[in-house]
Amino acid sequence: MQPLIGITCGQERDGYFVTYYYAQAVQAAGGMPVLLPFLEREEDLEYYHRLLDGLILSGGGDVDPIYFGEEPVPELGEICPERDRFELGLAKLFLTAPKPVLAICRGMQVLNIAAGGTLCQHLEVKPGLVKHRQHAPKWYPTHDIEISPGSKLFDLLGGCQTIRVNSFHHQAIGKVAPGFKVNAWAKDGVIEGLERENGDFCLGVQWHPECMWEKDQSQLELFKALVAASQRGNLYAR
Ligand code: MN
Repeated sequence: MQPLIGITCGQERDGYFVTYYYAQAVQAAGGMPVLLPFLEREEDLEYYHRLLDGLILSGGGDVDPIYFGEEPVPELGEICPERDRFELGLAKLFLTAPKPVLAICRGMQVLNIAAGGTLCQHLEVKPGLVKHRQHAPKWYPTHDIEISPGSKLFDLLGGCQTIRVNSFHHQAIGKVAPGFKVNAWAKDGVIEGLERENGDFCLGVQWHPECMWEKDQSQLELFKALVAASQRGNLYAR
């Protein structure tokens, strides 16, 4: 049986929105994608947690900084209160009774906040800052990241220490949540990946592998690992 992989959505006008790349990547990796509308009741979030074998926290807009105890900076973008509430609630359930999570871009930021970390609300332009909001096709990698040897991410990406990734963010991880470690940095020191230290499959990436895998098959390994972990019950497939 293909494991059920929930994919969170954003909101656009009166509808839910998520690019089709996530579902395509899950399917290509052997999983069964399921799109998740925002629900409010705690028991409904618990039902999702029981039903799903794995979770993708998808990309999107900014998270309300109230969730990490800060006032908004002027550069803060659009926020969606229903989405913040739903995703943070779901992330906490997947962290507490662990099931595999792949958290992408905003998703990694949501995961870090849910686990007790903070964000940098806006990357100030200063000498040495890499361009993290690329103006190039979505699949096209525009900046390098350094991956820490010995991390799970390093193993999953075939032992490459430097890879090039796409980049669509103006925020970044601030204080790393307890129980997590950084596994990748951009050349300017911006955090590009996080993983849980305890061995649970709980991986965050700041780039968008779902837009890259058709041109770069190594990026599909992240989704294959999520699906494998979801089949095996919360273990990294090795
Ligand atoms: Mn970046």
